[in-house]
Amino acid sequence: MKTSRIAEYLDYLFPNPQCELNYDKDYELLMAIVLSAQSTDKRVNMVTPVIFSKYQTLKELKNADISDLENIIRSIGSYRKKAYYLREIAKILDEKYNGLVPKDRDVLMTFPGVGRKTANVFLSEFYGEAAIAVDTHVERVSKRLGLAAVDDDVLKIEKKLMRRFPKETWAKRHLQLVLFGRYHCKAVRPQCDCCLLSDICKQKKVGK
Ligand code: SF4
Repeated sequence: MKTSRIAEYLDYLFPNPQCELNYDKDYELLMAIVLSAQSTDKRVNMVTPVIFSKYQTLKELKNADISDLENIIRSIGSYRKKAYYLREIAKILDEKYNGLVPKDRDVLMTFPGVGRKTANVFLSEFYGEAAIAVDTHVERVSKRLGLAAVDDDVLKIEKKLMRRFPKETWAKRHLQLVLFGRYHCKAVRPQCDCCLLSDICKQKKVGK
């Protein structure tokens, strides 16, 4: 009952949710997701066109001067580490995977800077695979709405969400929960006064 009300509200607010990262190629998406950790999609979208116009192939990117790359992404958190990740991912894809990002979560998780969340976001967005990535927004919203317990870790939350929502909706629900957390149930000053889920929310008072 509660889950279906949440699903209905998500469909009402975000009937056609889209990933907000810009990309043209598979590896551009993967790298954009890596860059987006502890940053915003907006900020990532400002730097990725610069990276991919300066380094137009994986070969160019894997041979990039690390300080040039760092300078391009300096406005993004943890830019030194992320510049290293990008160059290493380019090297791995070029030398081991014929330039294509593999459609395999376990393989993706062996890449530097790629954890379960990043792999899930990539697989659901690029290959349309059924997956629910739990980022900071999904975690917060799931806990506030009682879809997960306050002390659940991200893996536990992912499993609970997969049990609650039908598999064919996982990719959509992930995007909707991200957008719900980003624009409606924000970390600070969530829009509780106009939220139609306030009666079932465990933390509606945070917005008052
Ligand atoms: Fe989020 Fe407030 Fe709605 Fe609860 S009532 S889900 S805290 S916006």
